[in-house]
Amino acid sequence: MRRHEMSDAAAPTLGKFICVVCPNGCVIDAEFIPGSKPKLISFANAGCSKGERWIKQEIETPMRTISTSVLVKGGDYVCASVRTKTPIPLERVMDVMDALKDIVIEAPVHIGQTIISSPAGIDAEIIATREVAKV
Ligand code: SF4
Repeated sequence: MRRHEMSDAAAPTLGKFICVVCPNGCVIDAEFIPGSKPKLISFANAGCSKGERWIKQEIETPMRTISTSVLVKGGDYVCASVRTKTPIPLERVMDVMDALKDIVIEAPVHIGQTIISSPAGIDAEIIATREVAKV
């Protein structure tokens, strides 16, 4: 898309993004159109093709993994740590946190156990990341 065709859209913005795909932490310079449907225009300084894919996703459809805890009844711990099995859209993180805040599960809890499927209607799964024995 040429600049003169974007008169109704937000102005292009420059930003620096630290790639989180590997420990190298490349600082990627990106030019993008912000707004409700952000669009990557160009980027520089990605160290590899994984970073190139990451910056496009981070600008246009950012995803996050949630780590939190839920209450456990009848266990040797009162909480079990949990996380999303796969990343979810950043814009739905608070919806999922809301869906988890009142969850109470029964011990025992096993690592990898599904705690809730489709929280807040999202195609995702919340799994346990710690063992809680029944007492
Ligand atoms: S761009 Fe490639 S090398 Fe750089 S941090 Fe990302 S994955 Fe690692």
